[in-house]
Parts: sequence; C-alpha cells; structure tokens
Amino acid sequence: MNYVLVGNSAAGLFAAESIRQQDPRAEITVLTADAYPFYSRCLTTYFLAGDIPKVQLFLRSPEDLQALRLRVHYSCTVTGLDPVQHLIHTIAGEHYPYDKCLIATGASAVPLDIPGSTLPEVFTLRHLDDAQRIKAQLAPKRQAVMIGGGLVSLKSAYALLKQGLNVSVIVSSGQILSQMLNGEAANLLQEHLVSHGLNIILHQDVTAIEGTGCVQGVRLRSGRTLPADLVIVGKGVRPNIQPFLASGLAIRQGILVNEHLETNLQDVYAAGDVAEAWDHLHQTHRLNPIWPNATTQGRTAGANMSGLALTYPGSMGMNAVDFFGLRIISAGIVNPPTTSSWHVDDIYRRDALGHPRYQRLVWQGEKLKGFVLLGDTERAGLITALIQSGQPLSTDVRKVLWSGKRSSIRLVL
Ligand SMILES: Cc1cc2nc3c(=O)[nH]c(=O)nc-3n(C[C@H](O)[C@H](O)[C@H](O)COP(=O)(O)OP(=O)(O)OC[C@H]3O[C@@H](n4cnc5c(N)ncnc54)[C@H](O)[C@@H]3O)c2cc1C
Repeated sequence: MNYVLVGNSAAGLFAAESIRQQDPRAEITVLTADAYPFYSRCLTTYFLAGDIPKVQLFLRSPEDLQALRLRVHYSCTVTGLDPVQHLIHTIAGEHYPYDKCLIATGASAVPLDIPGSTLPEVFTLRHLDDAQRIKAQLAPKRQAVMIGGGLVSLKSAYALLKQGLNVSVIVSSGQILSQMLNGEAANLLQEHLVSHGLNIILHQDVTAIEGTGCVQGVRLRSGRTLPADLVIVGKGVRPNIQPFLASGLAIRQGILVNEHLETNLQDVYAAGDVAEAWDHLHQTHRLNPIWPNATTQGRTAGANMSGLALTYPGSMGMNAVDFFGLRIISAGIVNPPTTSSWHVDDIYRRDALGHPRYQRLVWQGEKLKGFVLLGDTERAGLITALIQSGQPLSTDVRKVLWSGKRSSIRLVL
C-alpha cells in the first residue's frame, strides 16, 4: 500500500507511526514544507527563553525516525490534490500517486495588516525559523511588544521577559487568554505576570508600527506610542487549506472529517490543526488547534488508513501553562452559556505563602463540562477523565470536587 502524508508535524508524524505499526511493508511518503525533521512548535518559546537548547525541540531521535522507514521530502510545498487520479501535486511540478492520503498541513499564524507590519523586526511565531530569527533579536533591556493576548503571545512574552527584555502585551479584549480562561482566572494570572515585570494593556488596538527601516514604536488607537525594538504578532492561526480549495474536499473553516478522520473524498483523510473534527463538548464540528488533538487525530487517522476502524472520541480544548512557577490547566468549556441548565463552582483562596489557588468547575446538570485549575493543578488528570467520560456524577463525587481539597476519588466509569 502506498501512503502519502502531507505534513510532518504532530498529526503527520503520529499518523506515520501508526501506519508503520499496522503495516510493516507500507510505502510511506511524507511531503513537508518544513526544512527540519519532526519538532515541537509548542516548545519553541522555551527555546526562546533559553530554558532548553535547540536539540530538545526534536522529539524523535534520528534512530527512531530511521526505524520508521519514511521517505521524507523536505521543503516540498504541496499545491493540489486530484482525487480522481489519486495524485498529489507539488510546487516543483512533481506528482505523487497515493492509495491513501492524509492532509496534515496544520495552520499558519494570522499576519497583521497595518502600516509598518512589513518592517524587518515584526514577527509571527509558528516555525522554528521564526524562533531563530526572533532569538537573534534578543538582548536585555530591548523593548518588545506582543500584539494579542492569546497563548502564543503570552508564552512569547514570558520567554522575552526571561531574557531580560522590557515586554508589553497589547490585548483588544478585556482579558488575557480569553480562549482558555474565565475572567477571574485571567485576572489572577495577569496580577502574577505584572508582578514579574510584564506590562499588559487591555482594551487597546495597535493601529501602526512606526519606524524608518526598522521598528521604533507601536502606535495605539488611544494615540499613545510605545517604544519598540521588536514586535511579535499573536492574533491566532488559520488552517492551511489553500492547496485543496479546488480539490472537491468539503471545507468550512477547516477540512471536515467524520469520526474516522475521513474526508468526503475516497481515500483522503485529514488530521490536526487543518481539520474540523467533532468536538464532543460543543457538540459540533470545530477547529481545535492544539497539540494533543493533533496527535490523537493523527494516530487515529493513520490506524484507519491502514485498515483499522477506530473512532475518534472527539476533540476538547485543553491547555497547560507555567509562568514563573504559577501552573494553570484548563479544559473544555470555561465560560458556559447563561441558560439555567449550566452552573459553575468557583473556589478561590491564598495559600500560606500568599500564592493564589483557584478552581472553577463548569457543570451542565450533573455532567462536568470544563474546568480551570490555577496554582494547584494536581487533580487535572482526574477531572479531565471525568469530563471525557460524559457520565453524570454522583453527589458524593461532586461534593469532593466542590471542596477543592486534594482527595482520592476512585474513578469507576
Ligand atoms: C509558539 C507555539 C506555542 C504553542 N503552544 C502550544 C501549547 O502550549 N499547547 C498546545 O496544545 N498547542 C500549542 N501550540 C499549537 C501546536 O503546536 C499545534 O496545535 C500543532 O503543532 C498542530 O500540529 P499539526 O500537525 O496539525 O500542524 P503543524 O504543526 O502546523 O504542521 C503542519 C505541517 O504541514 C506542513 N505543511 C503545511 N502546508 C504545507 C504544504 N502546502 N505543503 C507541504 N507541507 C505543508 C508543514 O511544513 C508542517 O510539517 C503552539 C504553537 C505554537 C506555534
């Protein structure tokens, strides 16, 4: 069987491992626009911070990759798919035939389209090359501005603070990490980050990046200008669907897939940030561009491409961060609708050292649908499992969870 995988990141590599496990004789070709072997984008900010060396970004050893016996074509940009001829086309004019194909092209950072956004020190952070270019700009006391208050922006801000830069984050909305946290948790994190020197400006937009030949400042809608030597734009991501728009694939924001990660085209699967898969908490197809969803989808798609019939359990938003020792984990729905079937339990306290401890549990009736843990994250695995079970929880379990105390709940699902 001849498999062609487009993309060599979380979804693509996990699919390749799955296929090789099922089908030792498979021909597996991987086409990737990247110039590097499989690496973790999530860790690039820790590389920027100086917490890890570049080599630790590569999550598989050369020996592991060799054992997979993949034919990887680096710096190879795919431009189209012909479902009738079963061919993948590349920018170099090559055509790769497939029996089964996986689209795992991920997502790209949304660029900023304002005056000055093409100045050389304006960056997005998606690729290892981006991280290396940003790293070359880092020196203590330089002024850095992050545009956007999402995960990539804040992880970048943390990295630059650790490198001794003066860092400001400009957020359009009224809170940081609005996809991941409710307002109270975001405020606690903001307080913590500000105490470590981060300047956070909410309810503000950047209207222009100023400078002649290089970045010198960032102009805000208020009329104020912040001094800046470099700017990182973190305004979210969008799926890399462009090469497939004329292929006949069913595409909304991403490529629609069913519970087996199959697209509407015979023998074509999709997984990862590019795929719009079932979200079991929101009960709809949705983009969920995070690493664990990409790896699970890749693994499931690979198994199904090679003959199994695994069902993808559905995506769930989930994130874990650690900023200067404050750990936060959230998953599922953290800002529920205001209808009567939903309610939240919030617990907030300070420990003996004055550090914040916060827990939010989000319920729909007797079912747990989401949580935020800030400070003490020990029970995150258990609570995630309770959400994923989809089961109504007994009063006893709910009481123990509500108490916010460390406790051993025996999980019988
Ligand atoms: C700085 C940063 C921090 C992050 N932090 C977290 C985190 O803390 N937690 C978390 O869960 N997630 C995090 N993420 C998100 C996570 O990295 C992504 O969800 C994950 O990488 C998605 O994997 P993927 O395989 O779907 O796509 P991608 O990682 O985007 O990879 C896409 C692959 O497709 C290839 N490709 C794209 N277009 C083409 C084409 N036309 N032709 C050929 N090849 C192509 C690319 O070269 C690449 O190999 C972070 C991302 C970034 C950038």
